Amino acid sequence: MTGAVPDHDRGLAPWAALEATSRGRRYPEPPPGNRGEFQRDRDRIVHSNAFRRLVYKTQVFVNHEGDLFRTRLTHSLEVAQIGRTVARVLGLSEPLTEAICLAHDLGHTPFGHAGQDVLNACMREFGGFEHNLQSLRVVDELEERYASFPGLNLTFECREGILKHCSAANARQIGDLGRRFLERRQPSLEAQLANLADAIAYNNHDVDDGVRAGLISLADLADVPLFARQQDVVLRSYPEVRPKQLLHETIRRMINDVVSDLIDETRRRIEAAAPSSVEDVRALGEPLVAFSAGKADEHYALKRFLRRRVYEHERVLAMREKAVRILEELFAAFMDDVSRLPDEHRDTALRLEAEAGAAGRARAVADYIAGMTDRYAFLEHERVLGTRG
Ligand code: MG
Repeated sequence: MTGAVPDHDRGLAPWAALEATSRGRRYPEPPPGNRGEFQRDRDRIVHSNAFRRLVYKTQVFVNHEGDLFRTRLTHSLEVAQIGRTVARVLGLSEPLTEAICLAHDLGHTPFGHAGQDVLNACMREFGGFEHNLQSLRVVDELEERYASFPGLNLTFECREGILKHCSAANARQIGDLGRRFLERRQPSLEAQLANLADAIAYNNHDVDDGVRAGLISLADLADVPLFARQQDVVLRSYPEVRPKQLLHETIRRMINDVVSDLIDETRRRIEAAAPSSVEDVRALGEPLVAFSAGKADEHYALKRFLRRRVYEHERVLAMREKAVRILEELFAAFMDDVSRLPDEHRDTALRLEAEAGAAGRARAVADYIAGMTDRYAFLEHERVLGTRG
């Protein structure tokens, strides 16, 4: 392409995902009038039904356990905020990064990871269930907002970022987008960044929620180097600090610490690899957006601590058991008799069954269940099985 740099690419680094070299949308559309293509992606995501449902979906704690815990919506906003900051510093596309961050959890089931594990088990004979692939399915197929195409018809770059992981079996079935998983190549830097912004966000907000829920204490966190170091800084500067202030000051400094490390290390790697385009970035065997080795170790130490002390806490596991039972029973009941589904979903199940047999019916049931919020799953269980769970 010759001529002037398009408005929306102005100021971006050559290794950014540029609108001028975008691989475009599945269904061609006229260019947006007042926005860039990636801004349009972001706006379509924010207007989707799946995005609004994130407010009632669990991150770690079930939605009705308390009003102050993160839900998938507030989590996604925190991810986007971290992603945008880093994108701007590194000369990457801020709207594309934001779009990927806001969409990354759209395919999540009710009840967090427990829900995804149950659906995957229920779908074992029918191609399985992966939440990343489901996020893509939401934006490609399930959203019904436009008369001329299914889904949101997002750009390739946004869809590439949404599909963070994918099994080889599924990668073979999704064409262009699946190829990198088979060839072990990388997505754009915006996609790599969204992935780490996600990890930074949950590692930090789950410390906050874990303390708030009474599952862990500040004393427990003294064993976590990332936390202990920043806590010491706060205590030295503010010896009289109150516990809540101490917690939040420490978390805010932890985020700053890992984000600064991420920026430095990524700059170093970009300089060493010297990519001249997003295609050069995609061709690499390793990601360029990364923590330094030392920070990565600390970051994973915090993650392991959270797994042991929060995600596998008996209170969280008790909720998990209940969630598993509710979703298993719902799946079995709908598979047994699709007329139990609301009319629209029953029609979809019959249509997919005519096309693909039992696997089609199962996919429609999984789509319906995956789209539920935590509280809607409880209500559906009560409606279909007559018990409150
Ligand atoms: Mg996430």
